[in-house]
Amino acid sequence: MPGFLIPDRIEAVFRTVKGFLPDHEAAALYGSALEFFSSAVGLAVEIGSYCGKSTVLLGAAAQACAASVVTIDHHRGSDEHQVGWQYHDPTLVGADGLFDTLPTLRNTIARAGLENVVQPLIGSSAAVSRWWQTPVDFVFIDGGHTDPAARADLTGWAPWVRIGGGLAIHDVFPDPADGGQAPYRIWRTAVESGDFVEHAYCDSLRVLRRVRA
Ligand code: SAH
Ligand code: MG
Repeated sequence: MPGFLIPDRIEAVFRTVKGFLPDHEAAALYGSALEFFSSAVGLAVEIGSYCGKSTVLLGAAAQACAASVVTIDHHRGSDEHQVGWQYHDPTLVGADGLFDTLPTLRNTIARAGLENVVQPLIGSSAAVSRWWQTPVDFVFIDGGHTDPAARADLTGWAPWVRIGGGLAIHDVFPDPADGGQAPYRIWRTAVESGDFVEHAYCDSLRVLRRVRA
């Protein structure tokens, strides 16, 4: 992979995992996460685990920094993953007939050797953020793409990014012709708040840094 040197054993797993992260954005995500693990108890939070494609990159970065990753997903898929929608994958329907990416996520984390680093949390982003109380070095928002879902991700998780920490948002498309606008709108909200400044970007991956409380 170009750019940052993702460990070979992580890249090998990454290649086999279903998901929605192109190689160049993956390298940028890995490099960004590495930059932000600097507090005593290093911690990243991911919203939208799916099958763990981005998770193994965050996990590899965390492992290199003796940090942890909490990856949050209800594992029932976003709108576009439901039966009859564009990104539905029938192989991800469980024996109970429900869409379920949790078994695949667990398999991915085990294969990547990251079971001691990545802690999956099953639930909706909003439900978990309601009780969450821990500052975070790096938040990666890659969850639901409706306006209410994206807004809940921002309001629920941006407040926990420590000063100097990173807030990454995936699928930011300023031009509506390239994709849905909800992630772009929360990215704008974060920048316009003055609490975050642009740190780096790679295609639809935007990384902000908190500059004030
Ligand atoms: N990061 C993944 C892709 C995530 S796809 C990759 O790199 O491949 C989006 C995921 O967000 C789906 O798994 C879906 O179940 C989850 N999701 C959508 N809305 C959510 C919500 N409100 N709370 C928690 N997870 C949500
Ligand atoms: Mg995405």
